[in-house]
Amino acid sequence: MIPMVNLKAQYAEIKDEIEQGLAETIDRCSFILGPNVQAFEQEAADYLGVKHAIGCASGTDALHLALLAEGIGPGDEVITSAFTFIATAEAIKYVGAKPVFVDIDPATFNITAENIELAITPRTKAVMPVHLFGQPADLGAIKALCDKHGLKLIEDCAQSFGARIGGRQTGSIGNAAGFSFFPSKNLGAFGDGGLVTTNSDATAAMVKKLRNHGSDVRYYHDVIGFNSRLDEMQAVVLRTKLKRIDQYNQARRHAAHLYSDLMADLPLTTPYEDGVGEHVYHQYTLLCERRDDVIKALQDKQVGCAIYYPVPLHQQNVFKDECKGVALPVTESVAANCFSLPICSHLSDDHVEEIVSVIRETLS
Ligand SMILES: *Cc1c(COP(=O)(O)O)cnc(C)c1O
Repeated sequence: MIPMVNLKAQYAEIKDEIEQGLAETIDRCSFILGPNVQAFEQEAADYLGVKHAIGCASGTDALHLALLAEGIGPGDEVITSAFTFIATAEAIKYVGAKPVFVDIDPATFNITAENIELAITPRTKAVMPVHLFGQPADLGAIKALCDKHGLKLIEDCAQSFGARIGGRQTGSIGNAAGFSFFPSKNLGAFGDGGLVTTNSDATAAMVKKLRNHGSDVRYYHDVIGFNSRLDEMQAVVLRTKLKRIDQYNQARRHAAHLYSDLMADLPLTTPYEDGVGEHVYHQYTLLCERRDDVIKALQDKQVGCAIYYPVPLHQQNVFKDECKGVALPVTESVAANCFSLPICSHLSDDHVEEIVSVIRETLS
């Protein structure tokens, strides 16, 4: 059996360090916004090359708080991708704004500056690109477009921790960004967690307030906020893994490149790298017209595989009505042909070869 993500192998290497950190936290009994959350926020800000990093309860909350702090609200339109996890659009709906879905680039699966520009209206307030599967969106062009039209740029970095664009980290370029520490993400906690990053002092101050009941000083409340803090125990886990994130992402890239080399002659499309952004392979996602045959063969051999994402957001029940008439041909065709293979920081070359041989047998 080869799982999509081998969290156990990763844990085995760092077990002692994490257990010691958790035991110290339990002894200290400082569970809410304690020293590890503070230290992790500083370490993450340093790593990401950003002025402020604020922990919160999940990636979904990180996007929600970032949008709120940037002043996005009812009546505003936010341009984003339909080829993503639902949370991207949920966050936009939570603030009362309208997600406007635009089509993706068939090679990178990310929304493009050209498609965004065509969707801009007088109500457009922000653009929320997703660095999907760990592949950085084309933020050079997208940021220039946002600057030209006076739009906020909020990055969905849930899948891109550690990915760089021309030497800069995703999450350090837009007005604000949201990261997720869901256990299977590139930097994963032992439960839920999230992070907002920004270079703006005002945005950072508002996110800090919002995540803690609208309060800076205990029992004095300035706005209606939320209970959305990063847990102290999760911060222990994240600090341990953050030290190793480059090694983890390097291992993902190694496995991805091996997959692509071994499958170069097969009738499928392996992931594209544009040479500007450094893909960190949160997912290794291919296109294949015979996807269903491949998936069945992998399932028969107990090899993990999954479809991210089978139904684009504009076709989901929840958005069907408000997206009547929206056609996104590239998104729809990618969703109909994509599938993802196991990838993580601990996938051996032998397993990659084994998986490829199952696919080769199926397609030949
Ligand atoms: C995982 C994910 C989120 C949400 O993160 P949670 O921590 O699960 O709330 C948002 N956007 C994308 C693209 C994701 O993959």
